[in-house]
Amino acid sequence: MTMKNKFDFKKIFGINVFNKKEMKKRLTKDIYLKLLKTIDEGEPLTLDVANPVADAMREWAIERGATHYSHWFQPLTGSTAEKHDAFLIPDKEGGAIAEFSGKHLIKGEPDASSFPSGGLRATFEARGYTAWDCTSPAFLKENIKGDVTLCIPTAFYSYTGEALDKKIPLLRSMDAISIQAVRLLKLLGNKKVKKVIPMVGPEQEYFLIEKEFYTKRLDLMLCGRTLFGAPPPKGQELEDHYFGPIKDRVSSFMADLDTELWKVGIPSKTRHNEVSPAQFEVAPYFSHVNIATDHNQLLMEIIQKVALRHGLVCLLHEKPFAGVNGSGKHNNWSLITNEGENLLDPGNTPHKNLQFLLFLCALIRAIDKNQDILRAACATSGNDLRLGANEAPPAIISIFLGDELTEILEKIAKGEKFKIKDKQFLKVGVDTLPTIPKDNTDRNRTSPFAFTGNKFEFRMVGSSMSIAGPNLILNTIVAESLDEIAHRLEKAKNINNETTEIIKDTIKNHSRIVFNGDNYSEEWKNEAEKRGLLNITNTVDAHLSMITEKAKELFEKYKVLSKNELYSRFEIYVEQYSKQIAIESKTALKMVKTQYLPSVIKYINLLSSAIVNTKQCGGNTEKMEDLLNKITVCFNSAKKKAEDLENELNNALSIEDTIQKAKNFRDKIFTKNHELRKDIDTLETIMPSDIWPTPTYSDMLYRL
Ligand code: ADP
Ligand code: MG
Repeated sequence: MTMKNKFDFKKIFGINVFNKKEMKKRLTKDIYLKLLKTIDEGEPLTLDVANPVADAMREWAIERGATHYSHWFQPLTGSTAEKHDAFLIPDKEGGAIAEFSGKHLIKGEPDASSFPSGGLRATFEARGYTAWDCTSPAFLKENIKGDVTLCIPTAFYSYTGEALDKKIPLLRSMDAISIQAVRLLKLLGNKKVKKVIPMVGPEQEYFLIEKEFYTKRLDLMLCGRTLFGAPPPKGQELEDHYFGPIKDRVSSFMADLDTELWKVGIPSKTRHNEVSPAQFEVAPYFSHVNIATDHNQLLMEIIQKVALRHGLVCLLHEKPFAGVNGSGKHNNWSLITNEGENLLDPGNTPHKNLQFLLFLCALIRAIDKNQDILRAACATSGNDLRLGANEAPPAIISIFLGDELTEILEKIAKGEKFKIKDKQFLKVGVDTLPTIPKDNTDRNRTSPFAFTGNKFEFRMVGSSMSIAGPNLILNTIVAESLDEIAHRLEKAKNINNETTEIIKDTIKNHSRIVFNGDNYSEEWKNEAEKRGLLNITNTVDAHLSMITEKAKELFEKYKVLSKNELYSRFEIYVEQYSKQIAIESKTALKMVKTQYLPSVIKYINLLSSAIVNTKQCGGNTEKMEDLLNKITVCFNSAKKKAEDLENELNNALSIEDTIQKAKNFRDKIFTKNHELRKDIDTLETIMPSDIWPTPTYSDMLYRL
């Protein structure tokens, strides 16, 4: 074994990013400062700045081996899109020169008619436009052979200016929350802050499996999850995988992954084994939500490529395997001022704590008022299989605050004395507010929305989802609560008294959302129901909450999504749900008809001859006949269920109405898929493994 040479972070980190350091080096001071004004303060970008920036970017990219550039954007499919153009244009003498100017940088016009638009774009105006989002730096994508493409993060919008992507509404929501947070801070006497930015650190969970097994499983290849598979003799019951020692093969994959992430400026920081066998996590250091979103999209792409280089396949699906943990994306969220102060960090002074408590109240109110909308933010057919299942957060939204913080709020609300570290306090106010304990040692792992000391961890987000949606929703609902609080303080005669009143009202009206116990327990389900909390168990119902009057008003008021944009998203996501279940059904049918049932017939044949032969020799065939009988019963049942599913699927596919169709897929098709699985999984447990046509759970989860 040889140790590698000293790792030089400085040489690797951000080497493929056109970051501020690179810009400063390559641009004149004047241009650089003008660009910074656009990046940091949102000043419009003019061509006289864009042109030299494009020149510098092109030179840098070509020096690093790039031949092409691409506007890189995030359509509503949830993944990213790119169309490459070579820098090259022919010159008049039969040669070629490199071309890339300000106008290529600022705006693109991909022929985008095949992206989902939910009716936002009629075919006659099918063009979509992409516009440079200079707050997210350009970067180079390198493939395994070293071919390089310059990628420019862009927003994607229609001819009429409507958002066709996930980035535009996210950026709008960042403005919305910043405006309201700055307004509140001003009222509290903090006049210097110009901007408040949501910060996000998304922890990404994933599975790794041997590529050889993956290619033998049509369900994994087409649906990202196993549609069949009996439970392995060993699951995760020994709890020996979580934080366990990382196998060499996996750690060398992780090392490669980190290097690739660092190159494109993703500050990958933490890696470990997760709860299920073959499950892992990677988490970067947190950053501005817009950058964190771009980075997470890029991470999901890189992780799959690097896995392949190691002969592995990375599964990002929320529930690749039934019976063991699913994968999520824990979205750690906080608010930070342009001066670097974290507004969710309880401060050391009473004044800071007043501020902290108001922001906390804004969150409590926002989450309680908008449980339905926040639930919709995480709704996909994949995540339906995870939420509420093995150790995932339940579909019921609640907030974990920890006992101490909860007690402080409750006592303030009741006007009671409360005690912290031997000091007694009577009421909230700049002079009297206690220091709030900083370290929340009680790290509740079961809560879907947990306060973890200086940030909230939203754990419902699915592992394959873009984090843009959940964050734009979080930003918008919190903006609305901050608006309400600021409005009250503006009218108030005395800020301290009004703060007490706000805390009182928050507790009175919204404390039902606070739950510090075990969210996985059955009692919580009952208790939550008593408290009137929502338990939205499926994607279709969840998305319906995005088109209520409340949702329309909310997103319109804060200029995050127009009514049209909201409806188009609703249409797309609900349609996606039906399409995904349709794909799963078709895949299941294909596997059953062409793999499982034929292999069962093969075995029935073998077994029948064995019975005949044994009988001829005078042997007792009673048990063999039992087995044959059991297999035949399962076979007939599976065959019948498959035929039934096929008929129902054809009916479901012919339904025109989007909502009706999705409900049909949810209530009929999904259930029938599940029923079919039961027979096939039973057959797997009794059939000889050498005849069974697909790799088993034991193969996939343990042979790594
Ligand atoms: P856990 O113990 O929850 O698994 P990890 O270390 O895996 O914690 O991930 C925590 C994530 O939270 C990291 O991405 C980290 O950078 C991020 N984080 C830390 N502080 C903040 C903050 N103030 N705002 C947003 N994210 C944060
Ligand atoms: Mg973690």
